[in-house]
Amino acid sequence: MIGKFTKGESPKQILQEVQKGKGLTRLIAGGTEINRLGSSVAADHLISLQNLSLNEIRKEGSLISIGAMVTFTEMLESDTIPAYLKEAVRFCGSFTRRNMATIGGNIAADRDDSYLMPTLLSAKARVLLGDISIDGKYNEEDIPLREYLEFRDHFNDSLILAVILNRPQRVVLSKRFARSVQSNAAVTVSFGASVEDGTLSDFRIFAAVKGTGIVRLSHIEEGIANRQFVEPEDVAPSATQNIAFVDDITGSSSYKRYILGSSVADLYKQSLSIVENGGDL
Ligand SMILES: Cc1cc2nc3c(=O)[nH]c(=O)nc-3n(C[C@H](O)[C@H](O)[C@H](O)COP(=O)(O)OP(=O)(O)OC[C@H]3O[C@@H](n4cnc5c(N)ncnc54)[C@H](O)[C@@H]3O)c2cc1C
Repeated sequence: MIGKFTKGESPKQILQEVQKGKGLTRLIAGGTEINRLGSSVAADHLISLQNLSLNEIRKEGSLISIGAMVTFTEMLESDTIPAYLKEAVRFCGSFTRRNMATIGGNIAADRDDSYLMPTLLSAKARVLLGDISIDGKYNEEDIPLREYLEFRDHFNDSLILAVILNRPQRVVLSKRFARSVQSNAAVTVSFGASVEDGTLSDFRIFAAVKGTGIVRLSHIEEGIANRQFVEPEDVAPSATQNIAFVDDITGSSSYKRYILGSSVADLYKQSLSIVENGGDL
């Protein structure tokens, strides 16, 4: 049960409190996940990030930095946020939740039906993290979001300060499958590739699969790069190899397998067509 609520004063002070709290002191951003009925976040002390000035969206050259406390609504209203990220933000159908939910909270929540994670991972986003080292010093490091996900437990007590997008020449396309916009998604999938001299390269394909978690389809990324598939449709049968799907309220395992395979093929086809038509990224 939450017995204490405080407002953090600086990243260092917050991280020290989290360290002292031994797993029961947690950060609170928009609070939509923490306060959700049935939330998996257990805490007796919550520290708000509200006073840290992490709510700026900045553009410096081709780099976009999105403060961890920027809300979904603020991203939608910004001229700086790329269209592909706004599309993922719209996967959250509730206007009330969009006004509260933050990009940092969405990443840290690491849900198997995450609105933003597949898109941010396919965009090759990076995260700026604040941490306290063993000798008590405060450090900041900028790492790929992929690495944050891969070593999620290691970063459990890290503070996400910002999300960085530094690949403007990328095509990123995403799809979400749910019974309604307000329901949990069975599958959210994203396909990303760099565009160089009219061709696609550096593929990233990620999906949030309900009951399974966030998965990377690296064998398909490699297969496309090695021209293993003649047509985009050929990707579908092998896309879901080695993924353990589960039956649940969002759909059967065979349904999830089918929509993931066919969506990856379709997103690949759409990406090729955007590049062939000299489309705007
Ligand atoms: C009815 C309902 C349905 C929902 N459906 C979905 C869904 O389908 N998909 C989905 O992705 N989400 C869903 N959510 C959860 C939530 O709305 C989003 O994930 C949201 O983006 C979380 O952001 P927040 O700022 O509210 O996080 P909070 O609730 O404040 O925090 C979430 C977690 O992130 C940690 N955290 C927050 N900020 C940081 C930071 N800067 N650095 C490190 N850790 C941090 C917190 O300690 C906590 O563990 C749902 C919530 C509700 C109430």
